[in-house]
Amino acid sequence: MALFEHPEFDNHEHVSFYHDKDAGLKAIIAVHNTNLGPALGGCRMWPYANSEEALTDVLRLSKGMTYKAAMAEVPLGGGKSVIIGNPRADKSMNMMKAMGRFVDTFGGAYYTAEDSGISVQDLQYMAEESQYIAGTQAKYHVRGEVADGNPAPSTAYGTFVGLKAAVESKLKSDLQGVRVAIQGVGHVGLRLARHLHEAGAELVVSDIFPENVEQAEKQFNAKVVSPDQILSADVDVVAPCAMGAIINEKTLAEMKARVIAGAANNQLSEERIGKLCQQAGILYAPDYVLNAGGIIDIHHQRMESSDDALRSHIEKIGDTLTAIFNRSDREQQATNIVANNMAEERFSK
Ligand code: NAD
Repeated sequence: MALFEHPEFDNHEHVSFYHDKDAGLKAIIAVHNTNLGPALGGCRMWPYANSEEALTDVLRLSKGMTYKAAMAEVPLGGGKSVIIGNPRADKSMNMMKAMGRFVDTFGGAYYTAEDSGISVQDLQYMAEESQYIAGTQAKYHVRGEVADGNPAPSTAYGTFVGLKAAVESKLKSDLQGVRVAIQGVGHVGLRLARHLHEAGAELVVSDIFPENVEQAEKQFNAKVVSPDQILSADVDVVAPCAMGAIINEKTLAEMKARVIAGAANNQLSEERIGKLCQQAGILYAPDYVLNAGGIIDIHHQRMESSDDALRSHIEKIGDTLTAIFNRSDREQQATNIVANNMAEERFSK
């Protein structure tokens, strides 16, 4: 498995493999770019079929973090780590401590945080071995939420701010009476539903777990539809908050919404789908710009800050998106391409 010839290799600065036999840890850390500051990116634990799959994931995800940090206006670069294993069956305290020691070998060039399969408790074990573990203790609160280290409240608020900016840009309206379909009402989606309900939006929701939609139905008067109907619902906005790759030629052809603005990562099945959105007159708010509230939260956890400073930083997501939409109109480029170009202008030396 050659690294420099790997299709996902993109001038990554540092890629390191680590094995701790006693702790049962096999992990990879990739630092993509540190021009703007030390690399930050969550640690993902996943039952990868082999190390090739894990390497592909860590190379791709660490690059994504460089773009996200640049657009979030935080002095951070992009990195990511992956642990090969099943988080339900293979995880142990010793493994997490060993992961902490691995992160520590980067001497502060890489900070880790939460991602799929890793909890705040796991990070606290890692933090016993390294000072370069972020997101263990949220200090500041968005809109009165008591945070516990999980950045979902900040992600949801950033998504709300971004969705509002997209609606203003495309529909020339505020959120009063605007119909929004939320795919997935989990940590982020349910909080987004609350913000939207408070702003006067009408909600349609879907989730594969009935207890999640029940909350949205009861608390926010949301209409519930089945998972296969949510993307084609008769609404103004679709907010994907469940999983990636859901915007493709088929779902786009059936979409009635004029705006796509949600928190899920990697919503477009392929980069060229961004152009198809533009041609269909659907405004796509680039996901990594919209869902950056989490990284902004973690940045504020690492310094002396305040609730107000965190909130105003998250609110900049709206301005950044408006700048992307305006440039997309001027240059007749898809919004996802404009966002990538703007990020590269910021982090390239
Ligand atoms: P979550 O697991 O709490 O919520 C996801 C919800 O989607 C769950 O309730 C799940 O049942 C539901 N779901 C799964 N498949 C579905 C389907 N086919 N149709 C409808 N619903 C479905 O996750 P989360 O933390 O709320 O994150 C949501 C998305 O936002 C993910 O893509 C995540 O990567 C992204 N994101 C989250 C954060 C964060 O701070 N939590 C930050 C950045 C990006």
